[in-house]
Amino acid sequence: MDLAGQNFGKLTVLNDTRSRLNRKEWACECECGKKTWVATYRLNAGVTTSCGCRKKEAAKENCFKNSFKPTHGMAKTRIHKIWSGMIDRCESQYKDKQNYYDRGISVCERWKIFENFYDDMGEAPIGMSIDRIDVNGNYSPENCRWASAKTQQNNRTNTRYLNINGEKVPLMEFADKIGVKKSEAQYAYTFMKKIHSLGLKISVWEN
Ligand SMILES: [Zn+2]
Repeated sequence: MDLAGQNFGKLTVLNDTRSRLNRKEWACECECGKKTWVATYRLNAGVTTSCGCRKKEAAKENCFKNSFKPTHGMAKTRIHKIWSGMIDRCESQYKDKQNYYDRGISVCERWKIFENFYDDMGEAPIGMSIDRIDVNGNYSPENCRWASAKTQQNNRTNTRYLNINGEKVPLMEFADKIGVKKSEAQYAYTFMKKIHSLGLKISVWEN
């Protein structure tokens, strides 16, 4: 689909594209004179209609009216629920905080603002939810993708295995058996994998 020459709000699409996070983006010129890159779906859906200057104006107005009402108008959408769920999971008062906060898993600074998250991830495909590629990593553009429940299951920590004298033993089962905390076992696993990937054989120096 060629959008070059078309107008979307204050934006005029230029004849220049790039690919970012597997999505096509168009160079656009705003009425205010600023240039910006916008993903195809955002133009077509009418989500982005300026370089950001329009949002800033609206935010300024809203500040006077009633502090911080969301200006994106998406508070009840599925993508917004996914975003706020992600923010909640990483809070210290979350009910399963041992799986997130206690393991040091957080949302990157950029994604603490809904618009940035939406910019990077777009709409969630049907049947998919947000998945961290490295389960010990943070919620960030580099470490997240949309994935089905099945893919996520395969990526879960409980499907990690150890090789103990040639026997395939689930990591968590073993941790349980020797009385090591889940979170500690996970860190140790990541550490061991890193060491192996460097081709090193190490053990504890006994004093
Ligand atoms: Zn502008």
